[in-house]
This record gives sequence, structure tokens and C-alpha cells, in this order.
Amino acid sequence: MPGLVTILVGNNPASVSYVTGKQNTAHELNFYSLQDNQPEDITEQKLLEIINTYNKDPKIHGILVQLPLPRHIDEKKILNAIDPDKDVDGFHPINVGRLMIGGKEAKYLPCTPAGIQQLIVRSGVPVEGAEVVVVGRSNIVGKPIANILLQKAPGANATVTIAHTATKDLAGHCRRADILIVAAGVPGLVKPEWIKPGACVIDVGVNRVGEKISEKTGKKIAILRGDVDFDAAKEIAGFITPVPGGVGPMTITMLMANTVKAAKSAAGIE
Ligand code: NAP
Repeated sequence: MPGLVTILVGNNPASVSYVTGKQNTAHELNFYSLQDNQPEDITEQKLLEIINTYNKDPKIHGILVQLPLPRHIDEKKILNAIDPDKDVDGFHPINVGRLMIGGKEAKYLPCTPAGIQQLIVRSGVPVEGAEVVVVGRSNIVGKPIANILLQKAPGANATVTIAHTATKDLAGHCRRADILIVAAGVPGLVKPEWIKPGACVIDVGVNRVGEKISEKTGKKIAILRGDVDFDAAKEIAGFITPVPGGVGPMTITMLMANTVKAAKSAAGIE
């Protein structure tokens, strides 16, 4: 039985909602799943000890520490402490290096970029030889998705450009893109006129722009917007992901896929 632990430090509302989504899916899939909540003021040493316990626990195949962590904890130190074979988030430097090398070396692809690749490929969008423009160069989205799509491999083999805040003529780069992946965290950054007609647009941005009362639950919920003006862009793009409901669910799906992979690997099946 695949085993997944999600460790949450503190109670940042966005983090609570992400971890809850991950745990609900793990339960639905009948995984052995644990939600480990730790207080905001936990020491770095204590958190390292907890990770070490899960590293040794044979029932746990995947360990996910929800980011961001409080300021007094060194995020790098924590991620480096996770056994690379249980690093289902794919953020350990060993797994980052494996992804960079590509091919059979790559064990766990980070979940959001892996989900983006699946969305593109399973929508029938040709990737080989495509002009891909990625807006954003974070270690969790921008850099890994660029790396995944430039590998000489099926569902990849694209020509990739990475744009960031120092990029000159962002609009011009976007206009060239057959596949435009936006992960900047700036609501409405990409204007509809920057999109090449028929392009595939992946909007990774999740921006909380206000609050509203949920019709379903009567509770206050965040109003979310992407980095792309969806309503206008959908008239021009050939394919486009909504926010919420596009990349987010795929991130959870790929976490589950990585956990199954880890369990199989621990059982010597793969
Ligand atoms: P991040 O670490 O803040 O990185 C943002 C990147 O975008 C940086 O490289 C930054 O450039 C670039 N950028 C910001 N403003 C820009 C501008 N005006 N023009 C060009 N480049 C710009 O963000 P992240 O962690 O990658 O997340 C990005 C967004 O995706 C956020 O909204 C986040 O909530 C969302 N996200 C969603 C999921 C999901 O599952 N759906 C998962 C992860 C993240 P510099 O490097 O030059 O600063």
C-alpha cells in the first residue's frame, strides 16, 4: 500500500488548503496517508528529527513538506534531509540533478511541472520542435518545466525560452510561443494580444485577489485569478487551462503518481 506523509508547519490558509487537497486524494485512493501538523514555532532540529523518523519508516514511501516554511527554518536544509528515494515532491538536489540529466536517470519529476507536461501531451498538443516560452524561473515550476520539455524524449524535445523580470520584450517572446507556460504569480500579466492564435496556454499562477462567500458551504473563500486573462485569452488560444481547476489538480495527481512509483520501487517491482 503506497504510504504518503504530508508535513505542515503552522497554519497558513493556502498551505492548509493545499495539504487538505493532497490528503483527501490520498484517502480516496486508499493510500496509507498521514497528515503531520507541527506548530509554527517548531525548531529546525525537531523538524529534521521528524523527517528522519519518516525516512526510516517502511510504511511511508513518500514525504512531502509543505512549503513555504517559517522564516526561522532553513528550507534547503529540510528538503536536503528527505531521503531522495522518498522525495515525491522532487525537490532534493539529487532528484533535481537527475531531472537535468534526463532519460532513465530522472526518478521523481516535481509534481507541478510533471502535471503540466501531462496536460500538454494528453491534449494532443505537439511538443517536439515546438517553440515553448516559460515565464518564470523558480526552482519549483519555471526551471523544471523548461528542463523537462527540452529533453530529447517523447513528449518533449522542444525549443525552450525562459523569461523573467530582466527579460526584454516579454510580449515579443510570448507571441512566438506555440506553448506558453506562465508561472510568474502576477495576476493578468499575460495580455490576450501576446498570445499566438491557436497556441497552448498553461496558466500556473494562483493569485488570491479577494474573498467571497461560497455558494456551496456559505463559508468565506479566496477569489483566485491566474497570470493570464482567461476570458479574453480563450478566444485566441487553441488550448488554455483555467484557474482554479487546471494545473492545481494535476499537481496533486502527479504527487500520487510519484508516491505509487516510490512504493513500487521500495517493493522492488520497478
Ligand atoms: P516565484 O518563485 O515567485 O517565481 C516567479 C517567477 O516569475 C520569477 O522567476 C520571476 O522573475 C518571474 N516574474 C515575476 N514577475 C514577472 C514579470 N512581470 N515579468 C516576467 N517575469 C516575472 O513563483 P513560483 O513559486 O514559481 O509560482 C508562480 C505562480 O504559480 C504563483 O502564483 C504560485 O502560486 C503558482 N503555483 C501554482 C502551483 C499549482 O499547483 N497550480 C504550484 C506552484 C506554484 P525573477 O526570477 O526575475 O524574479
